[in-house]
Amino acid sequence: MDLSEIAKKLGLSESKNLIRKAAELRRLCDVQFDSSIIGVGEVCKAIICLEIAATRFQVIFDRQAAIRLSGMSEKAYNRSFNSLQNSLGVKTKLDIRELGIQFGCVRLIPFVRNGLSLYKERFLASLPASRRATADFTRPVFTAVAFYLCAKKHKLKIDKLKLIEVCGTSESEFKCVSTSMKDLCHDVFGISKEKKDPRVVKCNRDLLDALPEKRKFENGGYLSDDGAEHSSYKKRKRMDKVAYEEWKSSVISSNDKNKAKGYFENYRLHSKQDEDEKNLVSKTTVVKGVLLQQSIQAVVAILLFTVTANDSEADIDQQPSLIVLARQFVTAMLVLDTWQYFMHRYMHHNKFLYRHIHSQHHRLVVPYAFGALYNHPLEGLLLDTIGGALSFLLSGMSPRASIFFFSFATIKTVDDHCGLWLPGNLFHVFFQNNTAYHDVHHQLYGSKYNFSQPFFVMWDRILGTYMPYSLEKKEGGGFEARLAKEYKDN
Ligand SMILES: [Zn+2]
Ligand SMILES: [Zn+2]
Repeated sequence: MDLSEIAKKLGLSESKNLIRKAAELRRLCDVQFDSSIIGVGEVCKAIICLEIAATRFQVIFDRQAAIRLSGMSEKAYNRSFNSLQNSLGVKTKLDIRELGIQFGCVRLIPFVRNGLSLYKERFLASLPASRRATADFTRPVFTAVAFYLCAKKHKLKIDKLKLIEVCGTSESEFKCVSTSMKDLCHDVFGISKEKKDPRVVKCNRDLLDALPEKRKFENGGYLSDDGAEHSSYKKRKRMDKVAYEEWKSSVISSNDKNKAKGYFENYRLHSKQDEDEKNLVSKTTVVKGVLLQQSIQAVVAILLFTVTANDSEADIDQQPSLIVLARQFVTAMLVLDTWQYFMHRYMHHNKFLYRHIHSQHHRLVVPYAFGALYNHPLEGLLLDTIGGALSFLLSGMSPRASIFFFSFATIKTVDDHCGLWLPGNLFHVFFQNNTAYHDVHHQLYGSKYNFSQPFFVMWDRILGTYMPYSLEKKEGGGFEARLAKEYKDN
């Protein structure tokens, strides 16, 4: 909307100077900051600029009409008015009477006036003659502090933050001036009994040092009487900006997270929620358990190798052919599978062993990769270490080949527990015994099926513990292994 049009609606079209001033203020707003940050729309901004200009030219301004025109509540308009005025730095004088009316304590007015003039007098008296002429007390902060201290002395409650906002200063400046006033004019503003002799108290000259000329430059040279970077408006603007930046980065990072999460979410066999709810053990405990388990096995393996390391040098140099290697690998796989199947099945069959040893592994109803080797140390020893030693010895593989074999078996076991059905996973292509297959065993209904691990499913098939399942896509993303036949409860 055009400024002159708004001015016409407010009955201000007579004064061309006023409109010109308002236009100048509006341009200044546009240059200095984005007024939409403080919630001041274009029309409201124009109206407020007109009001400021009207005050400057001492033209009567119909505030109620202006509020109606702005379409805002009175409170919102006042807030916008103060914000804009403070940020433009056009507030040069704070009228004591106006403050008294606004804060509902008109009877304080004479006290504030007296207190202020006394303060000025004493302040000037403490200054060297050369500086007295340039001392400037027109800054609103002085009036506001005097007003606040008087109210306090007369036991009237005043909203300090609102006062700081109205006078367009900062809390720190307010506090400085307040201390200075209390020190110099204890008889007027002080509350406590002990009185300070004003002659002994040094006035705070810094208050004046930070005054007009200096601040004008810092603030772009425009009527910067409220100066200081710390004006409440600027502080709020800065806080708004920080809040906005935080919000922005949180949105971006959660977006990124969702993208990353979304990818795996589409291939999970169980939801994250299931993982948290169904598992009977915390991840920290799992990590500790796995580390303990691995240390024990490492010690046992070192001892085992030390005892059996009597191979002659010649053996090490001889490279077995690929066929021999393949045969050794398959033999080792079959041996390990056989040992593990019977031991595993027996652990489920024998209630004592299950309760005290194997149940630890089944605390993970929804398994995850690093929980693959979360076992009772004794189970690690019985199933993995002895099984490993047997497959090593019976296959006749070299220690070097065994490194590859055991690494392969471990990676396979980790994959079986990873809980993800990722596309292109070669284990899922070559092995029927895979993530979904072993996942069935980890479910409460699956504890009588799919004992085979880690490579083949033959023993389950031969001995009738094979549970067929179909992998179906879930609605919310991910897969679900649906059992293809009734399971037995007992
Ligand atoms: Zn089991
Ligand atoms: Zn398992």
